[in-house]
Amino acid sequence: MTRDAAADLRSIAFCLERALEPSYRVRAFRTAAATVDRTPAAELADRARAGTLTELPGLGKVTATVVTESLTGQEPVYLRRVRTLGDRPVAEGAAALRAALKGDLHTHSDWSDGGSPIEEMARSARALGHEYVVLTDHSPRLTVARGLSPERLRQQLDVVRGLNERFAEEAEAGTAPPFRLLTGIECDIHEDGTLDQEPELLAELDVVVASVHSKLRMPSADMTPRMVAAISNPHTDVLGHCTGRFVKGYGRGGKGRPESEFEAEVVFAACARFGVAVEVNSRPERLDPPKRLLRLAVEAGCRIAIDTDAHAPGQLDWQHVGCERAHLCGVTPDRVVNTAGADELLRWTRRETA
Ligand SMILES: [Zn+2]
Ligand SMILES: [Zn+2]
Repeated sequence: MTRDAAADLRSIAFCLERALEPSYRVRAFRTAAATVDRTPAAELADRARAGTLTELPGLGKVTATVVTESLTGQEPVYLRRVRTLGDRPVAEGAAALRAALKGDLHTHSDWSDGGSPIEEMARSARALGHEYVVLTDHSPRLTVARGLSPERLRQQLDVVRGLNERFAEEAEAGTAPPFRLLTGIECDIHEDGTLDQEPELLAELDVVVASVHSKLRMPSADMTPRMVAAISNPHTDVLGHCTGRFVKGYGRGGKGRPESEFEAEVVFAACARFGVAVEVNSRPERLDPPKRLLRLAVEAGCRIAIDTDAHAPGQLDWQHVGCERAHLCGVTPDRVVNTAGADELLRWTRRETA
């Protein structure tokens, strides 16, 4: 069976437009379709076999793959994926994803650089309908954010234990739904890829989010192994805001902050290999990873965590932003780790499940 490659490219453009994707992304598919129209069928077939389609004007890696798959008579993978975007309006798909979330894996309290006490954050998360929230205050080296020393983190674990006893009593008494405050950390990734907290403590925590906060501009040749080392650390569960970018309108002078440079295919392959979830950070200044990278992570088969990185109770409600972006990038609830209940989540972070 033969397919019309130009028609497949146009179908992709149509689905993306329907999903309100920015026009620059859509244009690439329409431009590629026009090139395919102009190119004799025999030449297309030859080039597809030889892998030289990208030499044609307007054909890039992604569009060339679409054409190649189309010429073999199969529905291009990309088309299959974007088709589902059209099944329902973006808002509805994102809402379904949001409704499936049972918790949030990345939040801060006033123990580090958050603005509110632990209890207030937890009660707000419960009021939002979450079954659990993970408290991930910063690690020691992030002194500007009052990162927690091992001693303070141990104290915090006691506080969390006490709060959980009260939440359990409230659930028992029927005055509130069952809720758990899970222990965690947003752990700095050192320049050599090691993590900024005692391994015994990391082992004790329910969830470890590992993030780069320093030397964001190091060359890709250094940043890639740095990130991969952190991802392959058996304590790491989530890779936090992977590019470290700030979008325009934020950062110094509102100019934003550029993305850190790393080999995304290598980093996401490591996440998939070591069962580490790629975080979709919902903070308005971060919106990290950018959509092209989130799509790559999805293609690499990574698990995804849709988190708020909330530093105040109201910010716990930002998850819908991440859900919208995730939905647009083909993230389905089954691969989102925080659609799991607390017990199942903990089986994953303890690597008791595949
Ligand atoms: Zn961070
Ligand atoms: Zn954070």
